[in-house]
Amino acid sequence: MKVPQKPKIIFIPYPAQGHVTPILHLASAFLSRGFSPVVMTPESIHRRISTTNEDLGITFLALSDGQERPDALPSDFFSIERSMENIMPSQLERFLLDEDAGVACVVVDLLASWAIRVADRCGVPAAGFWPVMLAAYRMIESIPELVRTGIVSRKGCPRQPERPLLLPEQPLLYAGDLLWLIGTPTAQKRRFKFWQRTLERVKSLRWILVNSFKDEYEREFIIKDNNNPNPKILYVGPSHNQAATSDKTLTKNPSFWEEDRSCLGWLQEQKPNSVIYISFGSWVSPIGESKIRTLALALEASGRPFIWALNRVWQEGLPPGFVHRVKNQGRIVPWAPQIEVLKNDSVGCYLTHCGWNSTMEAVASCRRLVCYPVAGDQFVNSRYIVDVWKIGVRISGFGEKEVEDGLRKVMEDEEMGERLKKLRDKAMGNEARLCLDNTFTIFKDDICG
Ligand code: UDP
Repeated sequence: MKVPQKPKIIFIPYPAQGHVTPILHLASAFLSRGFSPVVMTPESIHRRISTTNEDLGITFLALSDGQERPDALPSDFFSIERSMENIMPSQLERFLLDEDAGVACVVVDLLASWAIRVADRCGVPAAGFWPVMLAAYRMIESIPELVRTGIVSRKGCPRQPERPLLLPEQPLLYAGDLLWLIGTPTAQKRRFKFWQRTLERVKSLRWILVNSFKDEYEREFIIKDNNNPNPKILYVGPSHNQAATSDKTLTKNPSFWEEDRSCLGWLQEQKPNSVIYISFGSWVSPIGESKIRTLALALEASGRPFIWALNRVWQEGLPPGFVHRVKNQGRIVPWAPQIEVLKNDSVGCYLTHCGWNSTMEAVASCRRLVCYPVAGDQFVNSRYIVDVWKIGVRISGFGEKEVEDGLRKVMEDEEMGERLKKLRDKAMGNEARLCLDNTFTIFKDDICG
């Protein structure tokens, strides 16, 4: 008797840590619901994530991205864009057209929208994966309206950064928060085009799986929106929490770099709620060396215990003698076991760039946030953290007074702790799990039914 095959789902993440991790969590949730997931990444990432999770039942496949050194991680947005548009499509196309592969659906990170076109050409249904909160997607979706109303020019430049965007069903976001405002004016225009192209491609999707939970600001809007057949918004996040409740979880956190676990023992010896955890995610470059130096001096002056996740290249730029002077005050590690650090009760707050995964990991552990957003969706996340959820404060620089004021405000605000607990229960509780179950039912009915 022929054993019925499990529906095969291909996952295509954007090649960066903050995208690969949630897509792997999602793939493991699909695995435990009876699907057969295949994760395709460039060679350099494949080498880092496949071996640690090879027994799991997820298939890992490598794509060439045309890099001269296949072990070098892709790091520059525009060179990644080039290889995604020019080198990767034919490889995915060959796979999808191979009848033996029997692919039921492709789940495409919306930052890798090249794969939507390939799936369309091959006649395979595609779902989008939006790795951050829905509010950031609303910004992209509103591009035509933002241009029409003159809030941004036809090349995406905001006429006044402080002008409110007034997106439907969203709290106040401003023109200066737009996702593409990173780097030089030329780079910003290019990113704007990237998003316009993405928006065109999204039109053929059946679903968008959002790595978030239903926030009440969005609830009404989604109900209305789901009357609109394509693409349907489905909530599947926050992914690390969903994966933790699946039958089959990743055996190891899919870090691209080795975690320095030495700080966990030190953390154990510190007083409850005393330690500041500092990390700006996997791309520190937008912050720059001189700000890192200023922050180092502010931390030293605060006298507070800290753990700072800072990669080796940036560590070289720290002020002379700093590492020696703070050896009893704190720990500096190139890559921290972040989820475990945040879970530790010695941590009092998290000085963060407001990356979405980091934000949700902090909420899961009820850690207050001192926000210093630097790029992309981080500005939107920080508006939610500070203005909507009120679980953190924002600082605009790393001067001694500014850092100390920010730390004091969050550490002393009792109500912030209560609000965090409520948000954690909403974001990580039963409702989020029901949303994920609902997604699987819809998937099974639409793809397999
Ligand atoms: N992370 C980690 N150790 C570190 C710094 C970051 O494990 O020292 C993980 C963190 O837990 C999160 C991811 O890297 O899951 C960063 O994703 P996020 O969306 O917060 O930021 P991005 O790197 O995309 O800017």
